[in-house]
Parts: sequence; structure tokens; C-alpha cells
Amino acid sequence: MKKIAILGSTGSIGTQTLEIVRTNKDLMVTALAAGTNIELLEAQIREFRPSLAAVWSEDKARELKTRVGDLNVRIVTGMEGLIELAEQKESELLVTAIVGMIGIRPTIAAMRAGKDIALANKETLVTAGHIIMPLARECGVRILPVDSEHSAIFQCLNGENRGELHKILLTASGGPFRGKKKEELKNVQVEDALKHPNWSMGRKITIDSATLVNKGLEMMEARWLFGVEPENIQIVVQPKSIIHSMVEFADGAVIAQLGTPDMKLPIQYALYYPKRRYLSGERLDFWKLKQITFEEPDMENFPGLSLAFDAAAAGGSLPTVYNAANERAVALFLDKKIGFLEIPELIGRCMEAHKVQKAPSVEEILQTEAETYDAIESMLG
Ligand code: NDP
Repeated sequence: MKKIAILGSTGSIGTQTLEIVRTNKDLMVTALAAGTNIELLEAQIREFRPSLAAVWSEDKARELKTRVGDLNVRIVTGMEGLIELAEQKESELLVTAIVGMIGIRPTIAAMRAGKDIALANKETLVTAGHIIMPLARECGVRILPVDSEHSAIFQCLNGENRGELHKILLTASGGPFRGKKKEELKNVQVEDALKHPNWSMGRKITIDSATLVNKGLEMMEARWLFGVEPENIQIVVQPKSIIHSMVEFADGAVIAQLGTPDMKLPIQYALYYPKRRYLSGERLDFWKLKQITFEEPDMENFPGLSLAFDAAAAGGSLPTVYNAANERAVALFLDKKIGFLEIPELIGRCMEAHKVQKAPSVEEILQTEAETYDAIESMLG
């Protein structure tokens, strides 16, 4: 029996993780955490019977306590609650399916408590990769990627000598606005940006896919996960999301991982690594597929991606600024307070205004996050 805890169980990755648990009798959920959606969390607690549940908001936690008063589950709250969940004795692995830098502290706590991490929360690696990766080695725990591209790279590297890895080819769908010019992007609406051509995901990451910021964040995530310099990570647009990513070795051989766009595959791979399990669902049919096409990413009309390479090259606290500015800008765009093109514009302005700090501590990362939020507020008056 493998015992897992899920941080962000009510979201897109969290609910898909629970779908996998539902169909596999040798997985057991020991703890669940959510932000505010206690209706769904209550249903999950009733179905999966964890002994611990965390809710960010105190009011909601109180309400949940009353709702599940008939069950043997302890309810905790706030950051303390998330950390308690991360350190929970019974669990072996923590799925970090929470969105944002709020995932950093619980991830560190779980590693220190000896848990493997199935990592979806890319913000943790983007901003604190220099802390997380050495700590994982020190604690003897594994960081198992959940992001489909990173899982693909991880699968391609299975059994290979990492020293012979030459280049990562990180694939991108190009998002719903692929091929559009800045002029056409100026007035795109939230509803259009939320229509991803291939994947069904949470709202924030769907907007990030439309701006190509998601690919920028993934490039930085890949850098830490696989120990590759940003200049050795090439973004390849592959519009149908059939190839989930590729690696090129020193001898020029390229290995790719292909599959239908279904996040359950990488989630399940992380939960059972190094074993593979049957997974129901559509399979690739190459007779019907016929062709796979490739393009260069358009960094001119989608500057969010080139800014990510700038942030990665400078390193230190700049990736935190990139991530925090994007997080706030996306929230403003979703609230219809700013336009689509203002997202990369605000990221760029925040990056320019920032004085880079080398190898920041967790406290400094969170301080930079807060300062970036303030900077955006003052920029927007
Ligand atoms: P969602 O927005 O769908 O879900 C986020 C989850 O985090 C929800 O359960 C939410 O709870 C919870 N949460 C948010 N804030 C808090 C908080 N303060 N305390 C406790 N829980 C909180 O996001 P996704 O599932 O789309 O993405 C999660 C992460 O995975 C992101 O880092 C994303 O980049 C990454 N990722 C996602 C992919 C996808 O296909 N969706 C693919 C690859 C990576 P509530 O519902 O109550 O708000």
C-alpha cells in the first residue's frame, strides 16, 4: 500500500490524482489540503477517508469541521496546517498540486521529513530550485516530475547516463493564439485565452500557456530538475501536444516520449515510479495521426518566453520576480482589469526595476514576491 498526501486536492492536478487513487486499490490517501473549496474537499474526505485535512482559510476550516464532525479526521489551517500535512507521519509521498509559491515551505518540510515529492507545483522549483535540489539529495528523497513535459524528459532519461545528455527539447503547443501578431493579441478576451487547444487545466496555467509564460516557467523547472543550463534547453512548438518532450544525447540520438494529452499518465508515473501501470483511456493511433509538425516559438509576439530566458540567465532572485509579476498580472487579466499584452509588459517592467540577489533564502524569495506584488500595485496606481 502506498500512502500519499495531496496539497491542492480540489484543483485540476489534485482531482486527477484522486481519479488514479480511485482506480488503484494499492494507493491510500492519508491527507488532503485545499484553499477554500470545502464543498469538494468534504466530498473527497468522505470518499477517501484521510486522517488529516488542511484548509487555508480559518473560517472555512471551522465550517468544514462542523460538516465532517461525524468522521475521524483532524482539520488544520493556514501555513502551519500545510506544514503539518507535509510532515504527516503516515504518508510516504507528497503530491504538490497547489498553485503558486505557497508550495515552497510545505515542500521543504516534506523533504526534511523524508517524503518523496510528486512535483506539479513548478513555482517551487522556478524560484527555489537552488535550495530544493541540493536539499533533496541531502535528505535522500526523490523529486518526481508531474508536469507532462518534465515527466517525458524523466522517462526519456530512464536508464541513461545523465552525463551524456546534450540538450533538452521542451515541446510547446503554442497555445490558443499561436500564429497571432501583437496587433491581434491586443484585444483578446479572457474567455478566448482560457480555451487551450489540447489540455484541460486550471485557469492560471491555461493563461500561462496562452502567453507562453508557462513554457518559460517549465524551462526554468527543467533546468533545476535535470541540471541543464538554459542555453541547452530548446523550445520546440509541436501544436498537437503528441510529443511531450525529447532529449538529445552527445552522439546526436534523440529520444522522445509520446502520448495522448492526458495528465493522468505523468501523475500515475510519478506515483508508481519506477513501475508502469495500466491506464485506461485513448491511445495514439499513428494511422489516423499521419503527421506531427514542428515550429520555432514566436518570442517576438510572445515576449513572456524570452523574458524567462533573461530571468534564467540572471538567476538568483530574478526568476521569483518573473513568477510573482506573472502571477499578479494573470490574476488582474482574469479579473478583466488589464489586457493580454500587459501581462508580459508588467513582468518586463518588474524585472527591469529589480536588483538581483544571488542565491536568495526562502525568506528572501518570499520577500521578493511581496515586493513584486507591491511594485505592480504602484505601477497600476
Ligand atoms: P488549480 O488552480 O486547478 O488548483 C490549485 C489547487 O491548490 C486547488 O486545490 C486549490 O484549492 C489549492 N490551493 C490554492 N491556494 C491554496 C492555499 N493557500 N492553501 C491550500 N490549498 C490551496 O491548479 P492546477 O491543478 O492547474 O495547477 C497546480 C500546479 O500544477 C501549478 O503549479 C501548475 O503550474 C502545475 N501544473 C498543472 C497542470 C495541469 O494540467 N493543471 C500541468 C502541469 C503542471 P481551492 O480549490 O480550494 O482553491
